[in-house]
This record gives sequence, structure tokens and C-alpha cells, in this order.
Amino acid sequence: MIKNGLSTAQVTVATDWLADCAGCHMSLLDMDEKLVQLLELVKITSSPITDLKQPPASGVVVGILSGAVNNTTNLEVARQMRERCQVLVALGDCAVLGGIVTLRNFFDLEEALKRAYVDTESTVDGFIPRSEELSRPLPVRPVDQVVRVDAYLPGCPPSPEAIYRLIGELLIGRRPVAQGENLKYD
Ligand code: SF4
Repeated sequence: MIKNGLSTAQVTVATDWLADCAGCHMSLLDMDEKLVQLLELVKITSSPITDLKQPPASGVVVGILSGAVNNTTNLEVARQMRERCQVLVALGDCAVLGGIVTLRNFFDLEEALKRAYVDTESTVDGFIPRSEELSRPLPVRPVDQVVRVDAYLPGCPPSPEAIYRLIGELLIGRRPVAQGENLKYD
């Protein structure tokens, strides 16, 4: 956890999302005026809503990842966030447990790709696109099955209040504990 005595003026936060929807990040934005207050205390160095998509190589204190690891690009992002962030937070059920994304694990991948690209009208003329430049699908896993995670916030999506509380606890050097009344499932 963040050490006591760390000046909040120094705290940098990076966020990113892996496979699945933008619900967790929308919940972060739904902090509204609390987000504005937070921005007085922290510097968000990268996020899906900024131009800078990747966190800087060093100096990030809190990294927040939502979504599950679903392909080789997700795996790379999760590893990069782990390397570059002192504290890594798994935000939302997909990051914590795999969530709805893990439903894909119940289906044969080749059969699913065939149904999506060959059996269904698509823009790629009836073949399964395969290229070194494309992400390769992987069995879906929660974030802590591929990198070490320091804090978890379940929920789908977690409420803005719960996200605010979690970041606040980290900023004052406390280990955040999810509170039942703040767990939210839409
Ligand atoms: S936990 Fe829910 S809201 Fe968050 S990314 Fe997964 S499905 Fe979307």
C-alpha cells in the first residue's frame, strides 16, 4: 500500500481498461464534482479519456485496471500497468473475477470465431482474420491471474462513491476494504 507520509501532490494515477464495457470507467466519471476535488490531489497521467493511453514508464503510484484479460494485447497492458504502478487496483467484477467476459470460456474459440466471421455476414468476406498485428484471443482471466493485484473493488460497475472511497483510502495509506452497502450491481 502507499506509505504514510507520501504527499498527495505527488500522487499520480493511471487508468486503463481491458476486455469488456466502459461501465467501470463511466462510473469513475460519474464522481462528478468529487472527481474535480480529486484532481486537485492527484494527477491522472493516462486514461481512456485522455490523449495519453499508456502510463508513463515510471512514477505512477496508483494504477486502476477494469475489465478481464481476454487477449494478448490485454495481457501486455496488464503487465505494463503492473511494472509501472506502485499499487495496482482491480476495478469491477470483470477485473476482480472475470465477470461476464468469462462466459466466452464456455465456448470453443474456433467455433465462436467461425460463427462470427464465416457463418455470419461480416465485413471480412467470410474468413477468420489472422495476422501477427492482431491480438490473439486467450482464455479469459481476471487480472490477478496474470499479474499481482494490491486492491480489489468488486461491483458491476462499482459505484462512484465506492471508487472515490477506494482512491481516498489509498491516498492516506490505508488498505481499502470494500463495504457491503457500497457494492453495486446494475
Ligand atoms: S464490471 Fe460490469 S461495468 Fe465493469 S467492465 Fe465489467 S461488465 Fe462493464
